[in-house]
Amino acid sequence: MTTQILHTTLKENFGFEKFRPNQEEIIHTILSGQDALAIMPTGGGKSICFQLPALLFPGITIVISPLIALMKDQVDSLKANGINACFINSSQTQAEQQNHIQSLKENTVKLVYIAPESLSYLDNIFSELNISLIAVDEAHCISAWGHDFRPAYTNLGYLKNRFPSTPILALTATADKATREDISTQLNLVCNKVFVASFDRKNLSLEVRPALDRVKQIIEFVSEKPNESGIVYCLSRKTTEELAGKLLKAGIQAKAYHAGLDNTTRSKTQDEFINDDCQVVCATIAFGMGIDKSNVRWVIHYNLPKNIEGYYQEIGRAGRDGLPSETILFESYGDVIQLQKFASEGLNSEVQLAKLDRMKQYADALSCRRKILLSYFGELVTENCGNCDICKNPPSFFDGTIITQKALSAISRLQEREPLPVIIDFLRGSKNAHIFENEYQHLKTYGIGADISWYDWNQYLIQLINLGYCEIAFHQQNKIRLTAFASKVLFDGEKVQLTAVQKISIDKSEAKTQKIKTSPDSLFEILRKIRFKIAKEEDVPAYIIFSDAALRQMESQRPMSDEELITIDGVGKAKLEKYGDAFIKAIIDFQKSKSSKIKKESSTYKETLALYQSGLNAVDIATKRKLGIPTVISHLAKLYTDGNDIDLSGFVSNEEVIKIKEAKVELDSPNALKPYFDYFEEMVSYDKIRIGLAIIEKENQIPIN
Ligand code: ADP
Ligand code: ZN
Repeated sequence: MTTQILHTTLKENFGFEKFRPNQEEIIHTILSGQDALAIMPTGGGKSICFQLPALLFPGITIVISPLIALMKDQVDSLKANGINACFINSSQTQAEQQNHIQSLKENTVKLVYIAPESLSYLDNIFSELNISLIAVDEAHCISAWGHDFRPAYTNLGYLKNRFPSTPILALTATADKATREDISTQLNLVCNKVFVASFDRKNLSLEVRPALDRVKQIIEFVSEKPNESGIVYCLSRKTTEELAGKLLKAGIQAKAYHAGLDNTTRSKTQDEFINDDCQVVCATIAFGMGIDKSNVRWVIHYNLPKNIEGYYQEIGRAGRDGLPSETILFESYGDVIQLQKFASEGLNSEVQLAKLDRMKQYADALSCRRKILLSYFGELVTENCGNCDICKNPPSFFDGTIITQKALSAISRLQEREPLPVIIDFLRGSKNAHIFENEYQHLKTYGIGADISWYDWNQYLIQLINLGYCEIAFHQQNKIRLTAFASKVLFDGEKVQLTAVQKISIDKSEAKTQKIKTSPDSLFEILRKIRFKIAKEEDVPAYIIFSDAALRQMESQRPMSDEELITIDGVGKAKLEKYGDAFIKAIIDFQKSKSSKIKKESSTYKETLALYQSGLNAVDIATKRKLGIPTVISHLAKLYTDGNDIDLSGFVSNEEVIKIKEAKVELDSPNALKPYFDYFEEMVSYDKIRIGLAIIEKENQIPIN
């Protein structure tokens, strides 16, 4: 099969321009009749590896998948691309099943999805079918080494014996070696080729934040992106419900999901999330396996995950479409304590504790987080990623010896009997009941650290624990105790380097500049609404019509004909035919309304300019044009930056312009007026700020010779 045919099939049927890493090699192997094992991260693009060969083979491709919920999604997605596919599982009526079996016999279906438990439905018709390929998805389920062993998978070994000349493609996102070997052996793969794709998901940003006030942080984060779906993973069922309640109260569409809820509620929540009817799901790790939603824009971990495997799989659910997506992990000492307790009491405790330790090291890291993650999966990366919080805001170290001495001597004065919060209260000289009951206010060092905020003390103490100067006695009410190293700082003059506490607002302004801008009347939003409407009519998830990535490309390239639309990634022949007109029309309408808006705008400026040139001042112009004075001032400011001869000196003094200039450097969002107004404590009017900014903008313009 030539490379050209593969590319044409990829474009015409799936709409994609290029293969992702390993896809093409895997497809070549399968088409040459050999078995293969494909290991790719979640979102890496496993499906194409069997869906594309399925189209080129004469017979049927059987896809074995454990996730009944996903089958419908995959089949819908194939159908949207004009590919005939079906699934057979126990949720269907007998008549439905018979129907599908009939079309299999007639070879009118290219792919059939089936759960291993249901393979028996095909048993007595196998000999009548023309089977070209067998794909085993989530193949790690066959291995007791894997984290998701399913007994029904262990029977699949017979397939190779029964269809010795049919290629088998096994696919999984689980990378470890033991599982890999087990898959090949148990499936009886013949001289199988193994393809391991990089686990790096560059489009996912990585961030770890201290868990203080996390509900507030989450509300702020989500409120900034009202149209973006996301998942918050929580450790306990109770937390999922409480958090969903709090988000709802803050006006965010959120629902809880955990294994304790009944089936109907769970699948309803899942459907609503997939269909963009519910924005946020607060879930335990029970949520996500059966979800292929490609436009999950962010994943938050409310609690520290148990291990890096789980964490990586969970954040992997964001950004399958390849667009930038955010992940945030909240770290709290409380969580560590609880997880440590679970791990030490559970099975295989040594291994679980070691895994938790690696997770904690990741969260406390002071170097590129992606390097740490990928090295965990056995990939060596030499470059820093530039898309994690550490790369964006490298930690700065300072001499923290005095802070350390204060903290350690406080722990000592409290006779190593108190947990972290009490130590901070003591250092800060808090006047609370616990302090007074124990008469701590009379001890030396009480209040010695009042100049440092609670938040910062918390961070410093965590650093000291990580550095090994003190430790948490997990089995004694989490008292903080000194270690042998403490005396070196207290008595032997040892110096301690601490890292400066990062302020979250810094991260936020950073994130803002990175974020793709979406205003409610942007073309993206218009296209999103059309997609939503079509999805409702066809009763499929919106991302099956077009991915977010495809809409973003339409927004930037503005295709206005079939020929232009087909060049968009994700637009194949079938989708062009079905949906092309609606999207092209929307883009043309948008362009038209934009140009008429520009015309209208420029005429209103012209009118103001003419009156100004006739000698009227701002107040006169406002009266004459029945506009507000601020509007006229904004016109004059714009006319000035556009190069018209307008005298603005009467509106704002030189000193004021200098002050505004200084504020511009300091403010997080220097493009809006309100932050300036607040910055000057409402002492400088909006008009002055507006004019001042126009003058500064003009100064900064590069002169054109
Ligand atoms: P996995 O099963 O490995 O998690 P999927 O097969 O669901 O991943 O693919 C993830 C996303 O990537 C889907 O939205 C899919 O349409 C998209 N995708 C797959 N291959 C390509 C490609 N070659 N070019 C662009 N997008 C692709
Ligand atoms: Zn990094």
